[in-house]
Amino acid sequence: MELNGAINSGSATATGNLSPDLIPLRVNDLKQWDYCPRVVFYNTVMPVARKSTVKMERGKEVEIKLDALEARRTLRRYRLSEGERRFHVWVNAPALGLSGKLDLLIVTPEACYPVDFKYTRDRPRRNHVMQLAAYALLVEDAMKVPAPAAFVYLTPSDQLIRINVTERLKELVLARISSIRQMIREEILPEPTPVRARCEECEFRNYCGDIF
Ligand code: SF4
Repeated sequence: MELNGAINSGSATATGNLSPDLIPLRVNDLKQWDYCPRVVFYNTVMPVARKSTVKMERGKEVEIKLDALEARRTLRRYRLSEGERRFHVWVNAPALGLSGKLDLLIVTPEACYPVDFKYTRDRPRRNHVMQLAAYALLVEDAMKVPAPAAFVYLTPSDQLIRINVTERLKELVLARISSIRQMIREEILPEPTPVRARCEECEFRNYCGDIF
């Protein structure tokens, strides 16, 4: 079965009713934080004009093709015998102050499994692992069911990679959430990523005058 929609814990909506003390964050913020903390600063503390990059446009095209392909497949490749597939579902967990939109959520009677589609020839990086672990935390909190693993579906290689969501990984996600909120509260520009190759195609490169 395939469904779309939003999942909220309690009576909260997909966009509101967060705990008042928590600065609302998106799962995407966690992914970006591990890629380069400054990206999160530019997105939250100093929102700047952004333009769509070639990479982003290609991502949207791939997403449409993957949806069609995935809908025709069985769940055997996930090693699951049964489950309901929900595409592009918003999940909101007010207790965490966290929300996010999943490419796919597989719901079985015992557990939930977030799936993220990625257009890349590389193996998943650490920021992708953090993103998937954050989705798992989100789903667990919102749906009150375990999310023991998450999947990255790599295209064009058509590889499916399972990420076991351990307690240690979840602790790391919570620590990242805390660091991001501290940065937002203090409004201090973080250090740039040490991986300077990332700066070459960065949509915010015009704002990082200390690098170029
Ligand atoms: S240009 Fe480099 S340091 Fe600046 S936000 Fe982009 S990736 Fe980070």
